[in-house]
Amino acid sequence: LEDLNIHPEVLNLKKELIFLRREIHKYPELLYDLPKTSQLVKTYLRTLGLEVHSKVGVSGVVGVLRGEGPCILLRADMDALPIEETANLEYKSAYPGKMHACGHDAHVAMLLVAAKVLVGLKDRIKGSVKFLFQPAEEGGHGANAMIQDKAYPVLSASPIVEEVYAVHVTNSIPIGDFLAAEEFASANSAYFHIDLKQKLEEANCVYVGAQVISSIQNISSLVPPEYTMVISTTVFQGNPEFCKVGGTIRNYEEQVKETLYKNLKNICKGVEATFGVEANVWFEEFYSPTVNDPVCTAKASNAFTKVVSKAKRHTDSPLIGEDFCYFTKEKPGCFLMLGCATEEKNHPIHSKKFELEEEALLIGCSYWVQLVE
Ligand SMILES: [Zn+2]
Repeated sequence: LEDLNIHPEVLNLKKELIFLRREIHKYPELLYDLPKTSQLVKTYLRTLGLEVHSKVGVSGVVGVLRGEGPCILLRADMDALPIEETANLEYKSAYPGKMHACGHDAHVAMLLVAAKVLVGLKDRIKGSVKFLFQPAEEGGHGANAMIQDKAYPVLSASPIVEEVYAVHVTNSIPIGDFLAAEEFASANSAYFHIDLKQKLEEANCVYVGAQVISSIQNISSLVPPEYTMVISTTVFQGNPEFCKVGGTIRNYEEQVKETLYKNLKNICKGVEATFGVEANVWFEEFYSPTVNDPVCTAKASNAFTKVVSKAKRHTDSPLIGEDFCYFTKEKPGCFLMLGCATEEKNHPIHSKKFELEEEALLIGCSYWVQLVE
């Protein structure tokens, strides 16, 4: 990579950065149940001399660096996934069926080392920083739990947070690039469930289920092409008396979500009227979209290009679900995706083959330092 401007203090801590990432990678923990990971984070932040709040939102940890001026929040998520790791790494997951397949191990390591560097630069920083380590990003609404925490509501507890930032690794763009979406930094994400029950004896729910699936495939043609959306069927099971059809929905705008919901309801009404079945649809909503603020996104992009001067900025909204949405609902912020892909390491996140190019951690960590400095 050309024209890299890794912060010298980050470079000095390269070994520690990689050690931390591998240590966390080895012991992946799920959702709110993060005894080892949160203990590591807590101990590290205490050693830096920071004010530390733990058990925030069950198992979240916050380190506060106090200074004169506005407070910004930097977020890392700590939880792993219920996936079996297949790669043969020396720091491979020691826990069967659990894996850091979304790179949250890297997020924690980058933010810890950035905290260490920033503590050393304390006198040069205008304002306060909250280093936030959250549980349960993967479907557990951990961000919301930390915001709503009674003892330490992380956004409103003094010093009050004014801006929020997060970094997420991605292998969908090469190392050196970054993605900072103009508006939607993650998608609305929901599951739909359709239950088909036989009403007339001659009705066959398996046949009706197949009809429902083919109608679902046509829904996308009912949404104007300028809107991005994905609806995909992932569940189809049952027998002539009872059948289940289900799948995922991803989109950005509220009106698109409403159109999708309305059409799924219409499909149910249609098969009820035609095939002698009872059809019910229900929705399980996970995350609303994360929205990037233009001012914060400009600051984030500037900071990134100071670290990688020839960095290509991607702006396409990713179709991921992400619970950083809870933070951007409350405060202006930016969710930035850090390019990590190389020719050898390019499996997507949430894949059991996901592997991370650790050189990218130096970029992400320097970005944090640059953003605050
Ligand atoms: Zn993730």
